[in-house]
Amino acid sequence: MRFSEIYSSPDSPVISFEVFPPKTSRGMDSLRKVLPRLVALEPAFMTVTYGAMGTTRIRTVEIASMIHNEFGLECACHLTCVGASGDQVDGQLQHIHGHGIENIVALRGDPPRGQESFQAVEGGFSYANELVAHIRSNGRFDIAVGGYPEKHIEAPDFETDLVNLHRKVDSGADVVITQLFYDNEHFFRFREAAIEKGVSCPIVPGLLPIQSLAQVEKIAGLCGAEVPSALQASLREAGDDPDAVAAAGIDWCIEQSAGLLTAGVPGIHYYVLNRASIMEGVITGLRGRNLLL
Ligand code: FAD
Repeated sequence: MRFSEIYSSPDSPVISFEVFPPKTSRGMDSLRKVLPRLVALEPAFMTVTYGAMGTTRIRTVEIASMIHNEFGLECACHLTCVGASGDQVDGQLQHIHGHGIENIVALRGDPPRGQESFQAVEGGFSYANELVAHIRSNGRFDIAVGGYPEKHIEAPDFETDLVNLHRKVDSGADVVITQLFYDNEHFFRFREAAIEKGVSCPIVPGLLPIQSLAQVEKIAGLCGAEVPSALQASLREAGDDPDAVAAAGIDWCIEQSAGLLTAGVPGIHYYVLNRASIMEGVITGLRGRNLLL
């Protein structure tokens, strides 16, 4: 089922999970154990990321195929412009389609380490909107793109970034999935401004269930997300006790999710980082409050 169908008749908000392809066989073994637990939580679909420099592209499709064909769950492959010409993208699309996958999360990708700014390879794409237009012309996929509630880190300002988001959606995206954020106000401001700019497809918040204060600070630093002082305080209070940290992370994610669901978001995309237990805590908590079926 394609994104446009998934989001067009949500009886319940569309819950989706994102996993990444592990680099080692041990990581793969662990993911194989985690997947059945994630599938048991009944998300509408899962997505599999694409490693920097396209390093994990074979594994991206391998894992997406496992989710789609062995677990019978809808799945999307992420795809970036990094190091890929149009012909190589076509080869990857062919491969993805061969596994029965009909949805792509299309991104530009980050500049490879050591490069200050993003540079397209010859015959490649400079921005995600070009990749979206190319995939759309292929005709066999629905497309999600990234949105940035606190603006993309390279964008000169919020307004310019929104113009670029609109261009991406205009090029053929079916849904916007946002970068993580820890304060829902950023999402609400972004959603309102994006709609005003003419973005008419579903805008889905992306949430990262917290695993530790160090993780939050590192990831927030990379993508420029604000870490609210109340969240910092609750993680500090949990200290070095892993169970208390997990409980604080689950509580924050449940509260964030509850605020978003109450405000009528079409769904929530969770960056699960290949772990199951925190996600189990979050989904069970939301079902306990009747916010999810
Ligand atoms: P773009 O939309 O191209 O934007 C990049 C920058 O250029 C922005 O500052 C934008 O304002 C500007 N811009 C956009 N279009 C134009 C234009 N036409 N002219 C001038 N300026 C323009 N990375 C991975 O490597 N693998 C993944 O699997 C992955 N998955 C992700 C999933 C989600 C939901 C999100 C939100 C991000 C993901 N990322 C992933 C990270 C993403 O690759 C980076 O955030 C990257 O820096 C930007 O990608 P983009 O597709 O948003 O780029």
